[in-house]
Amino acid sequence: MGALDSLSGLVFKNGDLAPHLSLGLGGKADYLALPRTREELGRVISAAASDGQPIRVLGSGRHVIVSKDSVRGVVLALGGAEFTRVSVVGDRVVAGAGAHLSAVVEAAGRAGLSGLEHLVGEPGTVAGALRLRVPEGEGGLVEHVDRIRAVSASGRVEELDAAMLHQGENRHDPFPSAIIVEVEFRLEATGQEPVVQRLKRCWIERRIREPLRANTIGPIFRGHDAADLLRKSDVARKSEGCAEVSDRNPNFIVVRSPAHPADIINLIEAMRQRVRERFHIDVERQISIW
Ligand SMILES: Cc1cc2nc3c(=O)[nH]c(=O)nc-3n(C[C@H](O)[C@H](O)[C@H](O)COP(=O)(O)OP(=O)(O)OC[C@H]3O[C@@H](n4cnc5c(N)ncnc54)[C@H](O)[C@@H]3O)c2cc1C
Repeated sequence: MGALDSLSGLVFKNGDLAPHLSLGLGGKADYLALPRTREELGRVISAAASDGQPIRVLGSGRHVIVSKDSVRGVVLALGGAEFTRVSVVGDRVVAGAGAHLSAVVEAAGRAGLSGLEHLVGEPGTVAGALRLRVPEGEGGLVEHVDRIRAVSASGRVEELDAAMLHQGENRHDPFPSAIIVEVEFRLEATGQEPVVQRLKRCWIERRIREPLRANTIGPIFRGHDAADLLRKSDVARKSEGCAEVSDRNPNFIVVRSPAHPADIINLIEAMRQRVRERFHIDVERQISIW
């Protein structure tokens, strides 16, 4: 029996991933780990190291497609109370990695702290959005990140150098293998009223700009110009099985029941192929396929 097998009630062999993926389309993980505390998380990491098993982390699974019946190694989901807590300390919002962005935006708004209003309505968790650098470009979430805490391979909580987020290109991810547990945002204390006004404005802008339906995934490809390239490549309404390119933004895919992950993956390839044929450019996939 391996070290992971001995963590019963914490690690589930052949764990079902579907409840942890936003579209519910998923197979199983060799080991699904649901730690409730940092101490439990440390135990999972040590056990995975001792068994030689790789680790992947899921946020709310909005930007991950599971293509295989079984994902090798350990999949971590940080949904426990210790990983979803959001608190305000002075001009800072301290959020667990698994906290939903909506909870962070709400806490900042209530405390009259400004800086995250443009994230209103953005789905996903704090760590998922940070890893994806949501939204792209100026005014992004990363600009307000002051501290990041992650668990090291030895299971200890360590602080990452948040300044590295601001180096290099915006698309650069300086911590590709970090398991993030907490993020601290430093915001501007402006009082509640101006924050509420900005939240209303950002919400309206978002509704006009993006397809926000629950069965929509994206952006599929990285970069400001991806949607434009796709539009000019006439991918609108292209479909594979139960997956169809969104008519509101061609960098998003609308998924209908009973979709299979292969529908989405085939459509992504067809979209990429269209852009390649039209512009001789290889668009870079942003959505993760496990
Ligand atoms: C530029 C941009 C604009 C977007 N705009 C919209 C929009 O308008 N509408 C919309 O519906 N969606 C939008 N999205 C998508 C949405 O923001 C993401 O799907 C969401 O933020 C992903 O969060 P998640 O918690 O579901 O992460 P997941 O999909 O679960 O994970 C995303 C990545 O983060 C990693 N990760 C997750 N948690 C951790 C952790 N604790 N430590 C380390 N790594 C971790 C995962 O391994 C994975 O690589 C946008 C995304 C981007 C990049």
